[in-house]
Amino acid sequence: MMSKAGYKNLSNLGEFGFIDRIAARVSGGPGVITGIGDDAAVTALTPGMQLLTSTDMLLEDVHFRRSWHDPYHLGRKSLAVSISDIAAMGGIPRWSLLSLAIPSDLPLDFLDEFIRGYLAMATEQGVALIGGDTCSSRSGLVISVTIMGEQLPDLILRRSGAAPGDDIWVTDTLGDAALGLKLLEGGLDSAQPPNIAQKPDCPLIGVEGLLSRLLDPTPRTVAGQALAGSGLVSAMIDISDGVLADYGHIARLSAVGGSINLEALPLSPAFCSAAAGFDSFPYQLALSGGEDYELCFTSPPRYRENIADLLKKCGVDGTPVGIVTSSPEVKVFLADGAEFAHKTEGFTHFA
Ligand code: ADP
Ligand code: MG
Repeated sequence: MMSKAGYKNLSNLGEFGFIDRIAARVSGGPGVITGIGDDAAVTALTPGMQLLTSTDMLLEDVHFRRSWHDPYHLGRKSLAVSISDIAAMGGIPRWSLLSLAIPSDLPLDFLDEFIRGYLAMATEQGVALIGGDTCSSRSGLVISVTIMGEQLPDLILRRSGAAPGDDIWVTDTLGDAALGLKLLEGGLDSAQPPNIAQKPDCPLIGVEGLLSRLLDPTPRTVAGQALAGSGLVSAMIDISDGVLADYGHIARLSAVGGSINLEALPLSPAFCSAAAGFDSFPYQLALSGGEDYELCFTSPPRYRENIADLLKKCGVDGTPVGIVTSSPEVKVFLADGAEFAHKTEGFTHFA
């Protein structure tokens, strides 16, 4: 299909035509002095704050499939997963760079929808798109997003800092995205992606709810900043590779261990009903499935009520799921005290 301007893909429009097309849809933002169009963007940090920077790549057929991820939600998700890293430090996301390697036959309509989704997430999260890079790809779409944020030095939360005896917390529910992916892989009708953008306030139950967690994750920016500002949190990370693996990073950098209570892991009603169809109840997905983009953090038990109140004000549930220990390992236990023999530690590349 030809787009309105008569272009079909980038071999007609060209690199600079495409950049102009993006620039026309972008406005400035806090601290943006020079955005898209010069050799480098110029931004001003809020006085007293430090810069937080993170970058992520999304590769076609490694991180996403064009048959499952519609372009609008792929655009949203590309930015959301990067913002999640800023949220995990308690930072305020501000500026982003978007680099794309584009197969020359990718329809321009796909790219327009991708940019529309990216900029919708940017607007929702107060992030400005200030630059990027555009080139052609010989094998699939490659998306690279760099996100920058800021925060007062004393408020920045790191993976190090957890102390034995602290509670291990997670936000919202775990495993939904991983179960959604499992259902897609099992041949769920992928021709009908859920209509999730139109009704953000309506809680979805059933398969649509799981798919929306996979295709349209919400970065926990508000909760991350509130936790950082509270002074009640000792360490924090976002859960992208499963709570077991990601808490494992807190444990390693804090030189502690942990004991996770498997049955305390928060599961959504959609997860429980869809999981009931499987032979063994897939707690494994809540423990080690990827792409939750929730926060995992540690805090002394005396703050339990304060943390619960604070998260409630941020509109997100929080659940204590374990305890930081002084022994170096991270173990998972069942309610009867038996150790749970988990299969893997979460997704890793090259495995
Ligand atoms: P250079 O040759 O100096 O690398 P480019 O021609 O790549 O410059 O980019 C021109 C301008 O367009 C720069 O401001 C760059 O940041 C911006 N830009 C390029 N690609 C993108 C993109 N995909 N999204 C947003 N801005 C982009
Ligand atoms: Mg360039």
